[in-house]
Formats: sequence, structure tokens, C-alpha cells
Amino acid sequence: MEKYWDKDIETMPREDMKALQSERLVKQVKHVYDNVKYYRDLMDKKGVKPEDIKSVDDLHKLPFISKADLRDGYPYGLLAVPLKDCVRIHSTSGTTGKRVVAFYTQNDIDMWDNCVARAITAAGGTNEDVVQVAYGFGLFTGGAGINGGSHKVGCLTLPMSSGNTDRQIQFMQDLGATILCCTPSYAAYIGETIAEMGISPDDLKLKAGIFGAEPWTEEMRQTIETSLGIKAYDIYGLTETSGPGVAFECSEQKGMHINEDNFIPEIIDPDTGEVLPDGEVGELVFTSITKEAFPLLRYRTRDLCVLSRGKCSCGRTLVKMTKPMGRSDDMMIIRGVNVFPSQIETVLIAEGYAPNYIIEVDRVNNSDTLDISVEMKPEQFSDKVKDMQDQERALALAIKTMLGINPKVHLVSPKSITRSEGKAVRVIDKRKLHDAPAKK
Ligand code: ADP
Ligand code: ZN
Repeated sequence: MEKYWDKDIETMPREDMKALQSERLVKQVKHVYDNVKYYRDLMDKKGVKPEDIKSVDDLHKLPFISKADLRDGYPYGLLAVPLKDCVRIHSTSGTTGKRVVAFYTQNDIDMWDNCVARAITAAGGTNEDVVQVAYGFGLFTGGAGINGGSHKVGCLTLPMSSGNTDRQIQFMQDLGATILCCTPSYAAYIGETIAEMGISPDDLKLKAGIFGAEPWTEEMRQTIETSLGIKAYDIYGLTETSGPGVAFECSEQKGMHINEDNFIPEIIDPDTGEVLPDGEVGELVFTSITKEAFPLLRYRTRDLCVLSRGKCSCGRTLVKMTKPMGRSDDMMIIRGVNVFPSQIETVLIAEGYAPNYIIEVDRVNNSDTLDISVEMKPEQFSDKVKDMQDQERALALAIKTMLGINPKVHLVSPKSITRSEGKAVRVIDKRKLHDAPAKK
């Protein structure tokens, strides 16, 4: 039987949810207008007053806010409460540039913990569980966010942080961890290490994993589920809205339910800003309707996905988002073709390779080059040059069929690609280095 953390909210009829969102939105817009000069100026420029926002139907009237605005306002420009009311800050991983800092009141932390508690419960977690938190702790939201949710549920929580993989595995065995939480790339690494140590998934008590903070494919999910003997659930979030737990997967494992009593999602056309209907791919935009300290309205995440409000077998009515296929700025344009790293990952795993790879893009004689180094599993290695070349050609062909462009594939020896303990960096786009202005 499906368990819920907040049954009333998670299964609320849509009309009631809309009323709740509208009530919270109206209050939030006023809070932001009164307390955040940066956003008040944006609203004034657009000619929108708080009174113009009467329900969620008016959301589209508000101006967007983007990462560039947050960098502009660094550090206090978007803070909406006195600093003395804040109890914590976190900061983005800086994956795509200068870090952004976000502030939290105690109520903000409680709301966030509740969102994560819903995710843990949806993955089958109860106070009988032992949760191993192998996301990084510190300014990054992963460790602290999952830790807070795990406490809320009453799980025995192991705040391991990431890294020190041998110790992770030892604690996992000795303390009987039942739920592992970390990035999917680190989960794959732990799975690989367990196999090398000769430990079978049956020797572990693990039953589920809650993985997020970076894009991962369905193929990667299968690799992790098999190597660890678990069900692997996706979790999504970002520092700007709180951290992990903005959206989470349920037993259906098909898209993530958004905690829309706190975060109203919209999908927009990234070029025109126009709101798109459910079912269309576009950029995800969030409005935080309950946050006190750092309440962003219409924040453009740059993550690309699709929203759906169909019935879910788990009984939740919360709107669902598909796995983000990557950020608009992860997308590479190679010889005029749009390429996401996740498309390449899908082919690699389907062709029997492990998810250890590096994508290098460059421009030679005005033409883009795509080189993919892929690690072999020991059994894929052959000392016959021709065998290796045949394998490389076969893989290149499979990738060409998917992308429409011809890559150069290099099979590299087992263990030669550095494993990730946090967010994996898999793309090196050397064209950006050529384009960057020379440093003086
Ligand atoms: P940064 O933007 O510097 O990486 P964050 O640590 O706040 O900072 O990361 C948030 C971003 O991580 C999201 O905007 C999204 O791109 C990515 N992300 C988080 N969870 C997932 C997930 N489950 N699937 C895909 N991408 C995710
Ligand atoms: Zn569901």
C-alpha cells in the first residue's frame, strides 16, 4: 500500500490545490514586492502591481527572474527578511558559473525537510529505515537537505557525506543501511566497487536509493538497480528554491511529483518566454509560494522537461515533471545538431558499456569535432587491434544513428576515467576555450 507523508496535500483534489496556491501566491507577491527592491523594480518596469495578482491564473503577468539576476543581487539583493531571521545559507554547486547564495529561515528549513520527508516516504522509507546520506555536506544542499528529511521521518540517519567509498561500503554493511542517497553517478561507482570487492547485493540490506542533483538516464537507473539490488528513485531540486525535494518519484517511477503546495511550476518557451501547455517540452520555471527568506517568483531554472497532470497509480494528485533531459546550457550544438550528453549515455549503456565516459567537443578547421572516450569493462578488452577497432566502429555507428552525426569513439582501458563522488563532469567543450577572450 502506498504511504504518504502528507496525505491531505499529496492527494488533494486539483481545485483545492489551485485555491491553496492562489491564496499563498497573493500573499507571497505582496511579501516580495514590499521587501525585495530588486524584484519590485522589475515589477514596476513591467507595470504590474501586487493587486493585479489575484490567483494562479495571473502568474504569467509577473516578470521572470534568472540566475543572472541572482548573480547581480549577490549576496543580499534578493533577501526578503531581516538577516537576523535567517538561520542558514546554502550555495549552488557553481556547475555553470559563479555561485549563488540562498538564505533560509527556520520555517524555510522545516518546509524543505517536509518536502524531503515526502520523497523518502514515497520511496518506502519509514522510521524503521537506516538512511545513508552520501551526498556532499556543506554549502551544497544535497547532504543537509536529505539529512533533514530523514530526521523528520525518524529514520536512523548516517550523515556520511560523499567520498571515502570503502568506508561507505563498510558502514552500509555494518549498520545495515536500507536506503542510499547520493548522486546517480556516485551510486553507480559504489555499485561497481561492491562488485569488485566480491560483495553481492544480496549481502546488503539496501532496498531503495534516492538519487538526484544531476541528469541520469533510464539506462543508468537499470545499471544502478541491478548493481545494488534496489529500486532507484529520482529526486529533483535546486538551491534557488531550497534544494533536493522540490520534486520526487513515487512507486510508479515515471516522472516526479512536484511539491506544488510550495512551488508552482510553469513550462515556457526558452526563447520567447511564452507559457506552454502541459505535454510540451520547455524550460521549467518555479514560483516559491511559501518561502520566507529567499522567495523567488517565476525563477527560470534552465532545466528542460515536460509537465503532466494525468492520474498517477500512486494516488498522488501533485503535478508531475519528466526527468530533466539536461539544462538548456548543457545542450551542445555540434555541426548544427542539438546534442545532450544524456543521449550519448543512453546509447553507451544500451550497447553494454558502463556509464564511464568523457565527451570532448572541439573545432578544427571551422568544423566541429566530437570525440567520445568510453571505458571498457574488463571483459570487453581485447589485445587484438582489429577487435578493438570493430568495437569502436560499432559504437560510433550506434551513436550516429541516435544523433545523426558521426563521433570518433575511443575505447579506453578499464578504470582510466576518474569516478565522480558528486556531480559528474562529463563534457569538455574546448570551443568555449577558443571563444573566451584572452586573459591579460
Ligand atoms: P548548480 O546549478 O550550480 O548545479 P545546484 O546544486 O543547486 O547548483 O543544482 C541544481 C541543478 O541540478 C538543477 O537545476 C538541475 O539542473 C540539476 N538537477 C538536480 N536534480 C536533478 C535530477 N533529478 N535530474 C536532473 N537534473 C537535476
Ligand atoms: Zn505517483
